[in-house]
Amino acid sequence: MNKPPTGKDGSDVVIITKHENNCFFRFECVLCGGSTDKQDYLYELQGDHDAIVCDECAEQPERVSARMRECAQHLRERATELEARATVHYVTDHRLRWSHGPIMSDEEKREREREFDGDTLEAPANETPSE
Ligand SMILES: [Zn+2]
Repeated sequence: MNKPPTGKDGSDVVIITKHENNCFFRFECVLCGGSTDKQDYLYELQGDHDAIVCDECAEQPERVSARMRECAQHLRERATELEARATVHYVTDHRLRWSHGPIMSDEEKREREREFDGDTLEAPANETPSE
């Protein structure tokens, strides 16, 4: 049985291969979070047809680890931002339930209803905003 190739430091080596493509979509790169163009070829990790790699990663494989670390840092920052935004209760204004209290004056409600072309400002009977 062949032993998988290893790098200078003994780490595993994963080979990126190029194939013809006839699905002209953009695909997300499994390495950096970037994407391919709509193109007639795709790079992928050898032996894994679902692991598509963008041109930038395939053409500069020595930069892949740095790009992955940049992506991971961006995702950590985005996660922190999402956690902070998740601490409030979101309600779309045209679905406000008036039982929550006098959020707008009657005049403000009428004005808002005109803005929504007659849509009701009350939540539909079968929808209840979550608490
Ligand atoms: Zn990439």
